[in-house]
Amino acid sequence: MKKPYIIIVEDEAAIAELVAINLRHSGFECDIACDSAQAQDMVFERMPDLVLLDWMLPTMSGFSLAKQWRSQAETKQLPIIMLTARAEEVDKVASLDAGVDDYMTKPFSTRELLARVRAVLRRRAPDVVVSGGTLTSGVISLDSLAHRVTAEGKEIKLAPTEFKLLTALLQQGDKVLKRETLQNMVWGHYSDIDERTVDVHIKRLREALTAVSAVAASQIETIRGMGYRLSKSAP
Ligand code: CA
Repeated sequence: MKKPYIIIVEDEAAIAELVAINLRHSGFECDIACDSAQAQDMVFERMPDLVLLDWMLPTMSGFSLAKQWRSQAETKQLPIIMLTARAEEVDKVASLDAGVDDYMTKPFSTRELLARVRAVLRRRAPDVVVSGGTLTSGVISLDSLAHRVTAEGKEIKLAPTEFKLLTALLQQGDKVLKRETLQNMVWGHYSDIDERTVDVHIKRLREALTAVSAVAASQIETIRGMGYRLSKSAP
């Protein structure tokens, strides 16, 4: 697996180095930017998986930079953890309002920082790319915008995970999807779940489909030793 790449934006060299050493030691790749302008250049040169962003930076504050990133299409989704020496409630609220994923108040323990980095990466792991429109296969039809699934014209209620699983299966056409691929598509690369969890949710998906349409349920085929496939027609 590719190492997650993190950019640390921090003007205090000692803190930046300490964080960098800990991140590298924990299997992350990272670089340091010492001000907002440098951070901006680095982000557009190579998009990181996450940014640790200090609030107090020379020239342009981390807070302003976070707001700017959130307003740009390329960086709208960029996971950010704000690091701040300001413990005032109003600043915490302001940073969350600016759209950062989490914040930590200095001084912080590197252990806690690592735990939060992992948590944000898990949470922000790419979901199944939901493009607008309707996906269909056999009797199943999924409207990604309306978040609505029907089979033989009847509505099927699905939990969010089962909805993503079905989206992934529909996106692949009639190709076989390995458990590992489904796991990455639905839960993301940083998830802790094992492949058995995929089976559990496939089972739930089948049950939900069965309740409305046996034909729809039978479209999900288990391919022994490989994974799953959504066939266009019931076998
Ligand atoms: Ca600073």
